[in-house]
Amino acid sequence: RELVQEQLEDLRNTCTAGRGSLLPGEEVVSYYPAEMEARADEFGLAGTNVDGTQWKVGDCDIRFPLHSISKVFTYGLALEDNGLDATLDAVGVEPSGDPFNSITFDDVHNRPFNPMINAGALVAANLVKGSSKEERVERLLERYRAYTGNPELAVDQQILDEQLVSNDRNLGLSYLMRSLGMLSGDIDDNLYVYLSACSITVTTPELSVMAATLANGGVNPLTGDSALHREHLRTVISVMSMCGMYDAAGEWAHDVGIPAKSGVSGGIMGTLPRYFGLGVYSPGLDRHGNSVRGVAVCRELSRRFGLHVFADP
Ligand code: GLN
Repeated sequence: RELVQEQLEDLRNTCTAGRGSLLPGEEVVSYYPAEMEARADEFGLAGTNVDGTQWKVGDCDIRFPLHSISKVFTYGLALEDNGLDATLDAVGVEPSGDPFNSITFDDVHNRPFNPMINAGALVAANLVKGSSKEERVERLLERYRAYTGNPELAVDQQILDEQLVSNDRNLGLSYLMRSLGMLSGDIDDNLYVYLSACSITVTTPELSVMAATLANGGVNPLTGDSALHREHLRTVISVMSMCGMYDAAGEWAHDVGIPAKSGVSGGIMGTLPRYFGLGVYSPGLDRHGNSVRGVAVCRELSRRFGLHVFADP
């Protein structure tokens, strides 16, 4: 145990030490306030095993919005609300190889390629049931609380407001999809639901618990609460493994080999089924929208601990 802690500390130092603010090639997402640039050096790493043991390194109390990491959990609830077949009719499980906000569709099936890019995530949000946008967000929050074990988990209103006013691309995508028959209903309501999920804030250890819940058959290893029905785990984790890192998913699968999902706030969550969940946070992003230091640390972690799912044991 101490050995692991030591290794993790060392990883943090190798992947982040002495680097001061942004590294060459690092960016902080544009719709964030300037404040984010000042936060570029923040770094947190945490792991939670399915038996409930945890490891933490660095800034583990800082809260950050889930952004695209939320797509995984929203998709899970969409699957529960509609079943696999109806969900598959609406959104595929095929990697697109395109950036997360790209305007491309699976023309053969008239649906977005997968629920990990914005187009597919907007459709998944649309599948979450509820009589109003508030009720749909509340249902999502309830789930997210089960995944983290934090009953206080909430949407950060300021982050939500910022996103609601700088949202042309998601609006455009939504209108286009509605005109193509991929999306129905009120577009503003749906964006509110999608962006609320993006604006839920977590700490790095909470993120690792969410990932560990997926690794643990959908049951939170700290609280014993169920967050996702077992039958949908296969779908959620396989989509994550193929599409979770956007257009860098192939490289990630090759170099790191752990099903994972990133978000533009600099968070990355990794799930090793039956073993553990990993949370990493560092806001500097690469051109794909993935955390530079987060990717570096996961790559090194996978190598040192032999975590690659396809590596020779
Ligand atoms: N909230 C962001 C958006 O919809 C999420 C994108 C991301 O994390 N890649 O644009």
